[in-house]
Amino acid sequence: MGEREEAGGPERIDLEFLRGADAEEARQFLVSLPGVGPKTAAVVLLFAFRMPLLPVDTHVNRLSRRLGFVPAGASIEEAERILEEITPREKYCSFHVNLIRHGRAVCRARSPSCGACVLAEVCPSAGRVGQKG
Ligand code: SF4
Repeated sequence: MGEREEAGGPERIDLEFLRGADAEEARQFLVSLPGVGPKTAAVVLLFAFRMPLLPVDTHVNRLSRRLGFVPAGASIEEAERILEEITPREKYCSFHVNLIRHGRAVCRARSPSCGACVLAEVCPSAGRVGQKG
């Protein structure tokens, strides 16, 4: 796998062999590694290899539910599949990055600024989420 072991662990891990691999197989390989979860795997494969995976971190998860893209009871895995279906593939990176930005700056977990939100007119949760949102 292109890594060299030293006393403190691998010096360098080369994932270049994943380029051109099937996205789901690549995801399964990465999550089989110690400490690698589905979100990390999807981030690596999307941003490094442009594979069609849409990572769902805490911000993407929260905003997707508040905006009504994903049902409240859906699992993270279901959310990933739904978001991958409704988002054009060429927009996966920008969708992911922009939801994180919006989640940090405006649609925060405990204190969303719905009054200043550009999405308020189309958001089913506008003014309805707060401390538990
Ligand atoms: S209107 Fe409120 S709940 Fe909806 S996206 Fe904006 S900040 Fe979040």
